[in-house]
Amino acid sequence: MILVTGGAGYIGSHFVLSVLGKGENVVVFDSLETGHIETIETLKKYGNLKFIHGNLKNLDEIRGVFLVNKAIKAVVHFAAYSQVAESMKNPQKYYYNNVYGTLNLLNAMLEFGVKKLVFSSTAAVYGEPEYTPIDEKHPQNPINPYGNSKLMIERILDDYDKAYGLKSVRLRYFNAAGADSKARIGEWHEPETHLIPNILKAEKDKSFKMFGTDYDTKDGTCVRDYINVEDLTEAHIKALKYLMEGGTTSCFNLGTSNGSSVKEVFKVCEEIKGESIPVEVLPRRNGDPAILVADNKKALELLDWKPEKDLKDSIRTAYNWEKVNKH
Ligand code: UDP
Repeated sequence: MILVTGGAGYIGSHFVLSVLGKGENVVVFDSLETGHIETIETLKKYGNLKFIHGNLKNLDEIRGVFLVNKAIKAVVHFAAYSQVAESMKNPQKYYYNNVYGTLNLLNAMLEFGVKKLVFSSTAAVYGEPEYTPIDEKHPQNPINPYGNSKLMIERILDDYDKAYGLKSVRLRYFNAAGADSKARIGEWHEPETHLIPNILKAEKDKSFKMFGTDYDTKDGTCVRDYINVEDLTEAHIKALKYLMEGGTTSCFNLGTSNGSSVKEVFKVCEEIKGESIPVEVLPRRNGDPAILVADNKKALELLDWKPEKDLKDSIRTAYNWEKVNKH
């Protein structure tokens, strides 16, 4: 049995769907602040899923999960607030939820002797890139509270391994993209801040807002490494396997190692939608580095993982989901 925190959210739900399909028993613990109960209802159709509504900020609630589910052998921890801009306005919300919430989870894990954890980290732990592509040895200087909160947890996990033997894999996501290839679930944030859903949602009187065309990049717009959500899911499955087979505490970048500019993504969206999309150019968004591309060699070698899907696949599945979710 696997405990998945944040299993009602975007990446967590795709992971749950995949492991349910492999016959695994799953307990999802989610506060439903940003995740959706509708997603849980959908997931329940595809396997043995137990849903527990609770908040990691409440130690008793997460202890209770382990108390009644003694078969939990590992935890995959997605639950977190993840909006950079919000974290700059309200750091307290981010440190309290992400760091304190994780400390409670770790307390409960140690109390019940569960010592394997896959943790959702982020490229934001690196901060402004000093070189590109970014490998795991790149200096870690986050430039916002969101990235800081994730880096703090990574450091806590190092210490918990040394002191308590808790083994963890930290997966540093670049830009997650796309949806389930059968459009059963997909990306659903309210409000939506991410590039691909925002381009696909744009309509005549609600144009897509392109933030900045004066970056020092191939076409003046920011370059990102869009990694398909089903490929991300697969990496979590491999990370669990790695830990179960005695793998040591480690971190891995999850990206494709290919960068796409905002304009390139926009063009593929138009191609897939088969129509022109209204666009408005705005000034740069605060805190956006020009280029973020992963060096993913470590994950390829040690996790035996490889991204199978490209940007077009991600945009196609995101669009299919957008059509379903709209209704
Ligand atoms: N972006 C944009 N318009 C939007 C959302 C995003 O131009 O409505 C740009 C953003 O400035 C960045 C890129 O798209 O350069 C990716 O942003 P996103 O929020 O998807 O991911 P991030 O890289 O911030 O994690």
